[in-house]
Amino acid sequence: MDNIPEIFGSAVFNDEKMRERLPKEVYRSLKATTVAGARLEPNIANVVAEKMKDWACELGATHFTHWFQPMTNITAEKHDSFISPIKGGEGVIMEFSGKELSYGEPDASSLPNGGLRNTFEARGYTAWDPSSYAFVKDGTLFIPTVFCSYSGEALDKKTPLLRSIQALGKQVSRILALFGNRSGKTAIPTVGAEQEYFLIDKSLYLKRPDLVTCGRTLFGAPPAKGQELHDHYFGAIKPRVKAFMKDLDTELWKLGVLAKTKHNEAAPSQHELAPLFNGANIATDHNQITMSAMRTTAEKHGLVCLLHEKPFKGVNGSGKHNNWSLLSDTGVNLLEPGETPAENAQFLLFLTAVIKAVDLHQDLMRMSVATASNDHRLGANEAPPAIISISLGEELTELLGALEAHTTFKGKKKVQIEIGADVLPKIPKDTTDRNRTSPFAFTGNKFEFRMPGSSLSVSGPNIVLNTIVAETLDEFATALEKSKYFSSDLNKLIRDTVVAHKRIIFNGDGYSKSWEEEATRRGLLNLKTTADALPCFIKEENRRLFEKYGVFTEAEIYSRYRILLESYSTTVNIEASTLTDMVKRNILPAVEGYQNELCDIIMKKKEILGDDSVTTEKNTLAEISRLAENLVGLMGDLEKKVAYVKSLTDLPQATYCKEEVLPAMEDLREVIDALECMVDASYWRFPTYNELLYSVN
Ligand code: ADP
Ligand code: MG
Repeated sequence: MDNIPEIFGSAVFNDEKMRERLPKEVYRSLKATTVAGARLEPNIANVVAEKMKDWACELGATHFTHWFQPMTNITAEKHDSFISPIKGGEGVIMEFSGKELSYGEPDASSLPNGGLRNTFEARGYTAWDPSSYAFVKDGTLFIPTVFCSYSGEALDKKTPLLRSIQALGKQVSRILALFGNRSGKTAIPTVGAEQEYFLIDKSLYLKRPDLVTCGRTLFGAPPAKGQELHDHYFGAIKPRVKAFMKDLDTELWKLGVLAKTKHNEAAPSQHELAPLFNGANIATDHNQITMSAMRTTAEKHGLVCLLHEKPFKGVNGSGKHNNWSLLSDTGVNLLEPGETPAENAQFLLFLTAVIKAVDLHQDLMRMSVATASNDHRLGANEAPPAIISISLGEELTELLGALEAHTTFKGKKKVQIEIGADVLPKIPKDTTDRNRTSPFAFTGNKFEFRMPGSSLSVSGPNIVLNTIVAETLDEFATALEKSKYFSSDLNKLIRDTVVAHKRIIFNGDGYSKSWEEEATRRGLLNLKTTADALPCFIKEENRRLFEKYGVFTEAEIYSRYRILLESYSTTVNIEASTLTDMVKRNILPAVEGYQNELCDIIMKKKEILGDDSVTTEKNTLAEISRLAENLVGLMGDLEKKVAYVKSLTDLPQATYCKEEVLPAMEDLREVIDALECMVDASYWRFPTYNELLYSVN
């Protein structure tokens, strides 16, 4: 791993390799084709495929796969070899055609489709996305693709993301044109997805069916030491973890992922990796590559990487901070306060566009991060609450306040701001990242959306962000394109927007109880669970929004809604069944075994020392016996609920999971945790939190 610049991107068919290996005219046609599924001239596609295959074979590839992102949060692949029989002879040659590169029919009928493929034509199709580079991994050439039905409906997470990027770009262009193209003609959203994860020892992991099946522990008494001493966060990285991180970086660099920062996180055994940002499409692909590389690299080190949002109760959960901004085609960050009055006016317009969009569409923002696993994290004390708000930092908030009230901005210097006439006072970047409690924070030149969960594809949150900001920019552009007095109309627009949407701005402690009350007073939404958040997807105004910007058709929205609901209920049901199974087959037998031993002790001791000598043992036995009885009772309740929930579907099923099944699991857990603290450790069959959280050295 000596020469990192040489290693970086070595397994990627990137621009440099294309230029090197493709004939000039082929290279040029390919560069002009950036739309997924757009038809490349067959001759051109054949040349690209041939050269790509030759390059991949040099790296040891024998297969290719159309790599796509179905409606799960992971990726799908089906490998085909390059072999082709020699015509009229014996043996094989390695072949790869333009058609194979461009289109695939993976069938894939068992992937979630939410009813979109109930027709006679159940096939799914993949189409090459030339805007994200192909790469070689483990002997296979991976070709990023979109995945859709025969009639062109999206069955994946990439298609609508690409559509939303396009919709946003179109509206940004109109705004930039209003400012005389100073910052370029158009822009793409950029994303930097910080990824949190846990590493635990594989041998212990395998002893916890809940971790294996559900990705999280369903019970476990709190460890003697959690994260109270704050000694893990940013602490020295242990050798075994360091070795893992080194391998992970190398793997990611080979695949062209800009892995940049790594550190220990707040909880024991919790870590983070942050990449440098990229365009939203590539950043989304790269985050998938990162999650997959984390899992496989951990295996090589005898570890398991947990990407679940809340593997352990009582210590921090894992999120995926989605940093988002707009980058113009001339390389200008449009959310960076500028140097000139005009640039600043433009900056304030983009800034207020985001503020308005987020205020208007809190429901969609919340919905975009709603999963059964993330519910355990949102609203818990270390993560943003389920209420959407924006923190701008004091300085910027004060500036907007001054604009609104036509008063003097009392920043570093007293100045009266006239948008488009003055240079804004330097707004210091919030480098200290002071407000960690905000779900959506402006951090100097980008917004950081902190609600997405660690296992989530970042596609969903970015589809929503791109679409809702496209809508406000569309409205702004429409208003300003008609304007006769641009400067004063712009001022008024920004001011009016601030006045209308300032309720969403909150710089205080988002974790405090008082904020929840304040948010209610302000009329902000507090959609606590996935079952509460999902129905907003199909609200008429939201369906119209997505249709208007060509991001989702109505049929696609309903199919996704069904998929998300089903995924929520299925997850909860699998957890409930896993829990009752663990109780019946392991916890109860362990408790009975220990009670039996206590009985033996009591009887023997009584014979030797008399009745008075066994008070302690009897008390322990009585308490365990009482808990065991509770355990059986609560398990019976849960089993009944699990049986009933299976008779429901859609929203009633999800609501029942939220209102009945999950609370029943919590009740049961409480008793299990109490028993864990009383039963002789040699009887307890599962590794405890103490063991799991401190398993890696
Ligand atoms: P901080 O540590 O203060 O949050 P960093 O600069 O370290 O800020 O960035 C954190 C994450 O934000 C990184 O993944 C980084 O790549 C990403 N990021 C930085 N600038 C942008 C941008 N313009 N657009 C999207 N993401 C960005
Ligand atoms: Mg951050």
